[in-house]
Amino acid sequence: MSLVPMRTLLDHAAENDYGLAAFNVNNMEQIQAIMAAAEETGSPVIIQASRGARQYTNDAYLRHLMLAAAELHPKIPIAMHLDHGNSAETCFSAIEQGFTSVMMDGSLEVDGKSPASFEYNVEVTRQVVAAAHAKGVTVEGELGCLGGIEDGHGAGMSQDEAMKHLTDPAQAEEFVAKTGVDALAVAIGTSHGAYKFTKKPTGDVLVMSVIEDIHRRLPNTHMVMHGSSSVPQELLAIIREYGGEMKETYGVPVEEIQRGIKNGVRKVNVDTDNRLAITGAIRKVFATKKGEFDPRKYLGPARDAMQRVCVARMTAFGQAGYAGKIKPATCKEMVAFYGT
Ligand SMILES: [Zn+2]
Repeated sequence: MSLVPMRTLLDHAAENDYGLAAFNVNNMEQIQAIMAAAEETGSPVIIQASRGARQYTNDAYLRHLMLAAAELHPKIPIAMHLDHGNSAETCFSAIEQGFTSVMMDGSLEVDGKSPASFEYNVEVTRQVVAAAHAKGVTVEGELGCLGGIEDGHGAGMSQDEAMKHLTDPAQAEEFVAKTGVDALAVAIGTSHGAYKFTKKPTGDVLVMSVIEDIHRRLPNTHMVMHGSSSVPQELLAIIREYGGEMKETYGVPVEEIQRGIKNGVRKVNVDTDNRLAITGAIRKVFATKKGEFDPRKYLGPARDAMQRVCVARMTAFGQAGYAGKIKPATCKEMVAFYGT
């Protein structure tokens, strides 16, 4: 199966009330970990790369790794998504490189840091939607700003500041009507990176009423939760046990994400949890086998550790078991869909 437009996966998830994890990648082992988890659980997958990841890997390596994943796993539908495109040009170059879905993050200026005006966001997102849909490619937009900074994106706000930039549901309605985006990233109090919450979350860490309100207004728009790693304490403990230094931190509890999924969230971005799993596994090898110098002997366990995180998220979000039940449309078929 060739890479599929993300919209077909999100539509299927909406019809069947589940969510899909979107995992970030920048190397071969990460892609292999996700695909192994997808085989293990029978899950459709969204694999995404940020601008930073595209620079790190080079688009050609990334494209061929993704095509290898599709070739080796013909029964798993795979969408390849650009995370946080900072400009129309970044989105267009991703589409040229074979991405089947792009995020135009017009909530921030081209620098990927400064909050942008609503008018700018509408205009740049509308442009990307017009060009992407003409090729059957899916578009995710963002309204409101998330805290934290990760991989060169994010407004770099503190958690308190981020709470002042939550998505306005009425504005979301206007944004979707004016741009025609397939999916909308919403700001509900999450932030990027490992340091999301300094206290143990109490169950009200997310402003779930924003999600509920947007879902009522826009039942056919797929919502996306960014910054949704759970930052498992056991992964932090492994890193600390083998010499790493991680400050006290907490992520978004999986149960909170599941509440979001019940209210129209279809894509859940997870990056930090996989980074923690990889780092812990590598540290463990370095600390316990000090003579080891074969990269396969530490990248292999790192890959296994990431696979375990992916399996847990795919199962918790409900996408497990659906890989074989989707008949994904091709980009060509999506062109006709958008044209009607
Ligand atoms: Zn994000």
